[in-house]
Amino acid sequence: MEQNSTFMHRCGLYIHVPFCKSRCIYCDFYSTTCGSDIRKAYVEAVCREITLRKEYLDQPVLNSVYIGGGTPSVLTAEELSKIFATIAEHWQLSSNAEVTLEANPDDITPDYAKALAALPINRVSMGVQTFNDDILRFLHRRHTAEQVHQAVDSLLSAGISNISIDLIYGLPNQTIDLWQSDLEQALALPVSHLSAYSLTYEEGTPLFLLREQGKVRETDEDLSLQMYSLLMEKAEAAGFHHYEISNFALPGYEARHNSGYWSGMHYLGIGPAAHSYNGTSRQWNSHDLHTYIKAAGDVFAANLFFREELSPKMQMEEMLLTRLRTAAGLDLTTFAHNFGTKERDALLTRANPYINNGQLNIVNRQQTTVNGQWSMVNGQCLSLTRKGLFVSDDIISSLFED
Ligand code: SF4
Repeated sequence: MEQNSTFMHRCGLYIHVPFCKSRCIYCDFYSTTCGSDIRKAYVEAVCREITLRKEYLDQPVLNSVYIGGGTPSVLTAEELSKIFATIAEHWQLSSNAEVTLEANPDDITPDYAKALAALPINRVSMGVQTFNDDILRFLHRRHTAEQVHQAVDSLLSAGISNISIDLIYGLPNQTIDLWQSDLEQALALPVSHLSAYSLTYEEGTPLFLLREQGKVRETDEDLSLQMYSLLMEKAEAAGFHHYEISNFALPGYEARHNSGYWSGMHYLGIGPAAHSYNGTSRQWNSHDLHTYIKAAGDVFAANLFFREELSPKMQMEEMLLTRLRTAAGLDLTTFAHNFGTKERDALLTRANPYINNGQLNIVNRQQTTVNGQWSMVNGQCLSLTRKGLFVSDDIISSLFED
């Protein structure tokens, strides 16, 4: 069903590291504490799973590897080295493969940065969230603003210059001035990529409880939109290309692995809770670390995998959800090729009110490239306008079939 032969042959590997040294109050990701025994068992299970599931990808070459979490930087250089040695036994990395490690700033010491640079890692994505130390403490983040600067210096000195940072806006007590200061400090750093997300209150988190108890107040929608607007203005003024709703990059530094998720790349996910996708089905591993460690020796263990075949309707929704998040938009020729011209026309009928009020538009694109290497679209594309970006979730869901 996947239409674009360029993407058919792009493959990525994701490895989920489910450890954190402490818990941030807003986070509902599954993670656990990280003693050395459990880390050792986890690394062994990851290596076993890689070996047993290598056939899932139909290509011997990986275009990207992404080690995410949790906090992957809690793994020692030796543990990471063992994982990369196993990867190298089964795949080749393409000559320009992007190999990312997510990290907490306080883990990036000069020695650790040097050890990372000695591995295939060529990109580090850091969870900074804010440069305000009071808010960092309130969120139970482990690092300080000063440590972000030290981490960036250490990475650059070690030779890793492709650095991404994540920020959050709409944090409790974060005024528009504080957000402006966060953006200015972030963009003054020698980083090539910026992701910024609006804070969400996830049920079951301590932050959710604080809001329920009336101890924190959620940022109102107007302020949140003002913050998003300022984000776009500052990032673009600093030369960053707004290539996805929450992502900005200097030219050529768009995240290849994540862009792959938005454009139909096939990927193998290793580790607890990791998802895999091969174009027509999705499967994911058990969230529970102990179940995972026990089962990773047997790929056919019923309690390791959950699998879902994607119906044409689900594939269509997946395509709308992922492509419309990008600046390139949804290639209408590809959509018609996959789902038929009748579906494309029905989509355009649903899109019409938003086109008429300036929230969506149709533009002609001959070719859009990410990092100058692969084409994403080849014809007329439906995409969100700047006005539409502010209400993207509502627009995208209303484009789904009833
Ligand atoms: S470090 Fe990241 S994954 Fe871990 S608790 Fe904090 S936000 Fe969640």
